[in-house]
Amino acid sequence: MASSGVDKQRNRRLSDHRGPARRALWAAAIYIAVGLVWVVFSDRLAEAWFSDADTLSLVQTWKGFLFIMVTGAVLFAVTLRQFHKDRKLLALQYDQRQALRRRERQLSVLMDNLPGMAYRCRFDEHWTMLFVSQGCERLTGYLPGDLVHNRKVSFAELIADPESSERVLEEVRQAIDKREPFSTEYPLIRKDGRQIWVWERGRGVEDDDGEMLLEGIILDISDRKLLEDELEELATRDPLTGLYNRRESSRLLEDEMERARRYNRSMALLWIDFDHFKEINDTYGHAAGDSVLKSISRLLGDSVRSVDSVGRFGGEEFVIILPEMGVSEAHETAERIRHRVSSQLHPLGQGSEVPMTISIGVAVYPDHGTDASMLCAAADRAMYAAKNQGRNCVVMAPAAEGAHNDRKDARG
Ligand code: GH3
Ligand code: MG
Ligand code: MG
Repeated sequence: MASSGVDKQRNRRLSDHRGPARRALWAAAIYIAVGLVWVVFSDRLAEAWFSDADTLSLVQTWKGFLFIMVTGAVLFAVTLRQFHKDRKLLALQYDQRQALRRRERQLSVLMDNLPGMAYRCRFDEHWTMLFVSQGCERLTGYLPGDLVHNRKVSFAELIADPESSERVLEEVRQAIDKREPFSTEYPLIRKDGRQIWVWERGRGVEDDDGEMLLEGIILDISDRKLLEDELEELATRDPLTGLYNRRESSRLLEDEMERARRYNRSMALLWIDFDHFKEINDTYGHAAGDSVLKSISRLLGDSVRSVDSVGRFGGEEFVIILPEMGVSEAHETAERIRHRVSSQLHPLGQGSEVPMTISIGVAVYPDHGTDASMLCAAADRAMYAAKNQGRNCVVMAPAAEGAHNDRKDARG
């Protein structure tokens, strides 16, 4: 739109000037008029001043010479001026062409050495590429020619899943509405089938016909994503057992508690401690203790539903969060887990195995506590009661004073 306005302005300015043919006609007309005036009047003056025929003939000859000299001088001055102008114009054009070539070279070096891919595309369902930089092959595995005008594949087909496509489309649409640049991240499937994560920053621009185009850059951020995932894993998992760590378990418990409150449902918490675990360490060594810890952790994870969460709260203490579970069902689950642990041997790491038992305290929301810390304290106390009852047993927390239960249907 903007450039078509510039074109109109330039055409108007050019049409203001008289055309070259008209200008040349004017020059010829002036020359003819001056020549005619000179011929008519100079002859008359010569005849008036010189009556002698010989002198008159001589004057006529010199008059001819003078006319040729003057018109020659004028022609020389005019063409000299024109040639100077032409030379200046040619030099200017040459400089401009050189500068343009230099800029094009710089731009293509810049584009080809970008860490990702620069692009211009249509804002349509295929993200039809009109231009992609050489980095396209490094990023997607496809040659620029494969993608431009969707010759082999459209960019939309490379986006890994429909949800990401929808989300990206919505983000771009919102940015265009606000006339702002957009940046977004999404997974992309390369030509070799490998999935990568990319970061894209772009903006909407209107072309000469008023069509909306997108221009921007796309970078591979897979390494960063991997690092983020690893960091998240490190922040939420216990390195020895791979179970949730104490912080993540507490967060999950708060979340689950909130959900149970909102939907007026029950939930249970199992507090687990190994019996006489110190003896394993003292007898077989710390590494053997670790091996038993890992074995029982796996067993705990395998003994619960996919909606349940198992976490290592510290040492050989574990918690299991059981959403939507009432008192009797929670007791059954705890009893099943206790039985599984005690009915099999656990590897010490060098071929030998040992038996192991666990004590479990059970507390249920809202019967034994109405917030996370109350529930933890109730389950912990119940676990200690199990220890006092001789270990290898399950103890349900006593109903808390003031705790209410008006969801009889949710209880086991
Ligand atoms: P109780 O039946 O009363 O629970 O006896 P216990 O020996 O299990 O006593 P307690 O729970 O107090 O002791 C826990 C022991 O667990 C102490 C420590 O040596 C051991 N422990 C804690 N963390 C680890 C660990 O990461 N690896 C190993 N191998 N041992 C650990
Ligand atoms: Mg213990
Ligand atoms: Mg302990």
